[in-house]
Amino acid sequence: MDIVVLVKVVPNIERVRFDMEKGTVDRSSAESEINPFDLNALEAALQIKEKFGGKITALSMGPQSAEGVYRDVFARGAERAVLLSDRRFAGADTLATSCTLSEAIRKLEHFDLVLCGEKTTDGDTGQVGNEVAEFLGIPSLYYVSMLGIDNGNIYATVELDGEKLVYKVDTPALLSVTKDANVPRLPTLREKLEARKKSVEIWDAEKLGGNTERFGAKGSPTRVAKTVVPKEEGRKGSIYRDVKEGIDALLSVLEA
Ligand SMILES: Cc1cc2nc3c(=O)[nH]c(=O)nc-3n(C[C@H](O)[C@H](O)[C@H](O)COP(=O)(O)OP(=O)(O)OC[C@H]3O[C@@H](n4cnc5c(N)ncnc54)[C@H](O)[C@@H]3O)c2cc1C
Repeated sequence: MDIVVLVKVVPNIERVRFDMEKGTVDRSSAESEINPFDLNALEAALQIKEKFGGKITALSMGPQSAEGVYRDVFARGAERAVLLSDRRFAGADTLATSCTLSEAIRKLEHFDLVLCGEKTTDGDTGQVGNEVAEFLGIPSLYYVSMLGIDNGNIYATVELDGEKLVYKVDTPALLSVTKDANVPRLPTLREKLEARKKSVEIWDAEKLGGNTERFGAKGSPTRVAKTVVPKEEGRKGSIYRDVKEGIDALLSVLEA
């Protein structure tokens, strides 16, 4: 089973600052890490590979400065890592990102499954997985909270609005997993040291056929008009010494 895992390197969202003038994330303000949801996708790929054999290719689009972080995918079970990095990919919205990722998947010799996280901690749109599937013309399942393997078949449980739907997965397909799908295992020190010896392949726009009109800012119909950080109002409390007065105040809030 040849599995492609989409992995995005994101800034640590607890620390990152925003450039309010440009309306962009100031990526230099915080260290980078693999998008936490993508670790669940990598773990799912590893579990499938353990049953079926095959190969995991991690695929990412982002700046080359993230190459060091990205090498962690080797320690987490990937045999191959491809980083799409080119100035012409910059400024991509989800459409251009998905188009670029899907062009790269087409360039791989073969794939059976594409796995991705449910969303990222920076962009947080949750659109890229389905858009990639659409570009590739393959079926996709979103919000997969459990993957089971039985009798050589893969079963995916999708949880939506309290309902659980179980699908038998035929390949090729794209699955987007939630953080409930598994607990990503931690790489050992040995795996981390081995990972340092491996190298990430860097692909540019030419490698993807060079149709730069569809990549980066040029291929992005979305424009960020303004970025606003909402004010946190904090919780407000009131103390009533008189019980009746307190109950009346509570009732008036509930009735309002
Ligand atoms: C007008 C506009 C301009 C933008 N300009 C920039 C910019 O200059 N620089 C910039 O960094 N961002 C920019 N962005 C943000 C960028 O569009 C998103 O970060 C990107 O499209 C991915 O969307 P997302 O993070 O919401 O992914 P989601 O849809 O939330 O992610 C779902 C899953 O898709 C996969 N995935 C998502 N992105 C990638 C990726 N890059 N590589 C591999 N797998 C991925 C992961 O598995 C992830 O878990 C811009 C957005 C807009 C609207």
